[in-house]
Amino acid sequence: MSTTSDPIPHYNLYINGQWRAPKAERYQPTYDPSTGAMLAHVAQADVEDTQLAIQAARTAFDAGDWSGMLPAERARRLHAIVDAIEARQTEIADLEMRNGGCTWRKANLMDIPVGLIHFRHFAKLADFEAQEPVPQITFPALSYNLVRREPIGVCGQIIPWNFPFLMAIWKIAPALAAGNTIILKPASYTPLSALKLIEIIHETGLLPPGVLNLITGSGQVVGPELCNNPLVDKIAFTGSTAVGREIMQQAASTIKKVTLELGGKSPNIILDDADLDIAVDGSLWATFMHNGQACESGTRLFVPASIYDEFMNRLVTRASHLKIGLSEDGATDLGPVISASQLKTIEEYIQLGIQEGATPVLLGQRPTDPELAHGHFITPTIFTNVDNKMRIAQEEIFGPVLCVIKYTSVAEAIRQANDTIYGLAAGVWSTDIERAMTVANQLRAGTVWINDFHLISAEAPFGGYKQSGSGRELGTWGLKEYTEIKHIHVDLARTRAAKFWFDIVTPQE
Ligand code: NAD
Ligand code: MN
Repeated sequence: MSTTSDPIPHYNLYINGQWRAPKAERYQPTYDPSTGAMLAHVAQADVEDTQLAIQAARTAFDAGDWSGMLPAERARRLHAIVDAIEARQTEIADLEMRNGGCTWRKANLMDIPVGLIHFRHFAKLADFEAQEPVPQITFPALSYNLVRREPIGVCGQIIPWNFPFLMAIWKIAPALAAGNTIILKPASYTPLSALKLIEIIHETGLLPPGVLNLITGSGQVVGPELCNNPLVDKIAFTGSTAVGREIMQQAASTIKKVTLELGGKSPNIILDDADLDIAVDGSLWATFMHNGQACESGTRLFVPASIYDEFMNRLVTRASHLKIGLSEDGATDLGPVISASQLKTIEEYIQLGIQEGATPVLLGQRPTDPELAHGHFITPTIFTNVDNKMRIAQEEIFGPVLCVIKYTSVAEAIRQANDTIYGLAAGVWSTDIERAMTVANQLRAGTVWINDFHLISAEAPFGGYKQSGSGRELGTWGLKEYTEIKHIHVDLARTRAAKFWFDIVTPQE
């Protein structure tokens, strides 16, 4: 897959079970956001390469080797693939950390092990009962009816840079489990863990050629072809709401099935009876995990006036002791953000917050440590006196910036929590579960955590209300997004429906 003569490896496209150079022979470097070091040159697919990958996936789907395989056999192969990935998980974790800038802890304790659990779950679900129960059909009375789940076909899948490995798993695992074929497009900043994943799967030899294809390159080039090409049946996209809108529009040209996992600005509501030890650290975790570069990050914190001073004192003290450092340092709490342009965006939002009249009780700055001079580092920001109408409270910053909103009535906090175009996730902190449940029921979000945050389960659905997306990932809900549903009606009464409409008398010859 990569040539070894060059000290900086070159990665090619993976099409129809083979590594091949892009037609135009174009490659782009990819970097380590902690150090700025160049890690690899990665193939840039153009429209023609994308069409080749689509054709390979189409041919593989239509041949039926994978789509028509017995579910138990598909499940067996997927389990063996997960075993192979598991055996090389430290290699993946290392790439995830270096290329994605996530901390050693996030890569090794969260993203890779969780990705394996999620893939394992879909391997199990692959052996599903395609036939679903159907209520007795009332008209016509005497018929036999089957309702069956079938794979959709060729799936174009586009993923972001913040959880490169996990997002690749969330896309390919349910699609493969349901019998589809795939063209996966990783984010331009972070292709390396997905390339490693494909290399490992390729070496198992368990997928027929063309079932799983990977093309790297610009989303603006590959995306429109995936969305418009009539040989593609479904588009699954995770990324920004702005690009999600474009994808939906383009997919309309051929009425593709579309699932979208988009942005968020999740509210995190502290109730006045919360256990402060848990709620303070939980709020830091909610917002600063991976520097706030998670779609579900709890970036709007609602704190009751009655406990405001104590809560904020503890929160700011704890936040100011978060350790900024290189990804590879096991003690690092906050690594770099993904890119220089993302860092600039974050700094612009901090300036905007000040202009809008919010108070930076903790002001994000570039660290002075010379070891961090070549990476994209910034310390955490906490804004108080935030009005939910401010742009810093409404727009997704995707950086370590927390907006704190003081409230006096819970009903008012809920109203403001819901006053957003997003609806991906929310948090509620309370020692009174009945109260917390009452709040959770009123929040317009796909996931609500009570006394926790960010925990995503293989078995439970994840996805957004409102402009946070369409459809769900994970669990049986996620699997079904990769199926078409078919009703087969078998007439048993021999009444011939046509007879109700036509009374045709054929003249005797
Ligand atoms: P992005 O939308 O810029 O890019 C996502 C992917 O889309 C990349 O692979 C990119 O190359 C590709 N792309 C870019 N332009 C495209 C186009 N015109 N057509 C098709 N594809 C195109 O997002 P990002 O900056 O990489 O990721 C951050 C965003 O993703 C945030 O908004 C975040 O909230 C969201 N996100 C959501 C979830 C979720 O599950 N809801 C998970 C992770 C990230
Ligand atoms: Mn982007």
